[in-house]
Amino acid sequence: MKILIAGAGPAGLYLAYLLRRRLPAWKIRVAEQNPRDSTFGFGVVFSERALEFLRADDPQTCGRIAPAMENWTDLAIVHRGERVVIDGIGFSAIGRLKLLQLLCAQLEAAGLRPEFNRALAADENLNDYDLVVAADGANSVVRGTADFGTTVTPLENRFAWFGTTKIFDTLTQTFVQNEAGFFNAHHYRHSPSMSTFVFECDAATWRRAGFERMDETATLAYCGRVFADTLQGHRLLSNKSVWRNFPKVRSARWSVGNRVLIGDAQRTAHFSIGSGTRLAMEDALALAKCLGESKNDIPGALTVFEALRRPVVEKLAAAADASAGWYERFPEHMRLAPRELAWSYIQRSGRVDPARLRGIAPRFMAGA
Ligand SMILES: Cc1cc2nc3c(=O)[nH]c(=O)nc-3n(C[C@H](O)[C@H](O)[C@H](O)COP(=O)(O)OP(=O)(O)OC[C@H]3O[C@@H](n4cnc5c(N)ncnc54)[C@H](O)[C@@H]3O)c2cc1C
Repeated sequence: MKILIAGAGPAGLYLAYLLRRRLPAWKIRVAEQNPRDSTFGFGVVFSERALEFLRADDPQTCGRIAPAMENWTDLAIVHRGERVVIDGIGFSAIGRLKLLQLLCAQLEAAGLRPEFNRALAADENLNDYDLVVAADGANSVVRGTADFGTTVTPLENRFAWFGTTKIFDTLTQTFVQNEAGFFNAHHYRHSPSMSTFVFECDAATWRRAGFERMDETATLAYCGRVFADTLQGHRLLSNKSVWRNFPKVRSARWSVGNRVLIGDAQRTAHFSIGSGTRLAMEDALALAKCLGESKNDIPGALTVFEALRRPVVEKLAAAADASAGWYERFPEHMRLAPRELAWSYIQRSGRVDPARLRGIAPRFMAGA
């Protein structure tokens, strides 16, 4: 069997490794447009401790990545300068580059080298492969080569993915106001020496602040001033940190002919629920399992893959949409007192209710 995997992000690298291990006779190519060790963004957080979702199916990968992660159990909301702690919500984080390096190293140790600097074009001949996996992210080129019934809807808010040398003790959501409007930062440490700082604001605030006319230096300086109390003298750092509208991607069909979508190419999950990377890796696990059990019946494997996986993905996508909707309206929530805001925040995706919170966050609930 000849397989082409487009993209060496978490979905592509992990799928290639799993297939290599499970189906060593298959010929697998991984094509990545970027050079080795180059990626966008800073850290990613997982809304579950230390890749627990992988432990049962793949303890080896879990054991390789988990030691490089930062872990914590509390979540903090800062509003009007007041910090409200919600205890008991376990998270782990890792630098995106570090995660990709670990996934790439285990793939190469299994004998497969991704082809870096190899961008697949929209008119690429993909018919020679038994299977082409589009793991090429939210702006997937491979997705455009067949009719997957995909819709891409940009959200209204603007965000930029920064880093900083300020080390935060826990995942924190900080809200602040200035003359232009309201701003939010999602910030957490993703290594012992670096933190992620995702800066977000609504479209009206973004225009009033004048970001349209600012270059990168002016943007970093402005954002640094807005969050000066949070950064405490540390600078914000950029890594292809352009302003973006989060693209909500949904696909009516996950496979067409010899092509299948996984990860962000198939659907995105808003970053505020910390699940996009996990979903991408779970897609890889599920697809590798279906292919492994298919006895070379690829169309059959793709049908089973979608039937089994779609209900799980849609549940999380609905939670991600609810969470994104909360952020789209966050200036409205700013009239809430800090504790009320924390309540509103923690219940935003519909996955955490007061009964569940009583079990996991006794200190927060005791103060309720
Ligand atoms: C601001 C922000 C914060 C986020 N924070 C989190 C978080 O905290 N936790 C979390 O779990 N998720 C987070 N995410 C989401 C997460 O980054 C994605 O869900 C995840 O990276 C999806 O993995 P993927 O492999 O499907 O796609 P990607 O990571 O996008 O990888 C796709 C790869 O394909 C390559 N590629 C693209 N086009 C081509 C081409 N034509 N030819 C060859 N290669 C190509 C790209 O260069 C890239 O390497 C965040 C996203 C954003 C925008």
